[in-house]
Amino acid sequence: MCEAVIPTCRDMAELVTGYLEGTLSIRTRAAARLHLAVCDACTRYYDQMRRTIRLLGGTPPPAPPEGAEERVIRAALPPGQGESGGS
Ligand SMILES: [Zn+2]
Repeated sequence: MCEAVIPTCRDMAELVTGYLEGTLSIRTRAAARLHLAVCDACTRYYDQMRRTIRLLGGTPPPAPPEGAEERVIRAALPPGQGESGGS
């Protein structure tokens, strides 16, 4: 129940839009970000979408609640990963 389900590349096609529009739940955002962290293709797709939205003068991506997102991601990652040491 508290496990983050990492979406597939196919899911990401839809999630990226929501991610950029800020319509995803914090949990889904974190899952999408986890996928982006491990998938080059989707990272490129995400980058492209972000640029396209900016060019179109669409909704600017809202500032995500960094702390909350990080916490969800950290909870989903196996221990030992994403160490930055900032307490
Ligand atoms: Zn992918």
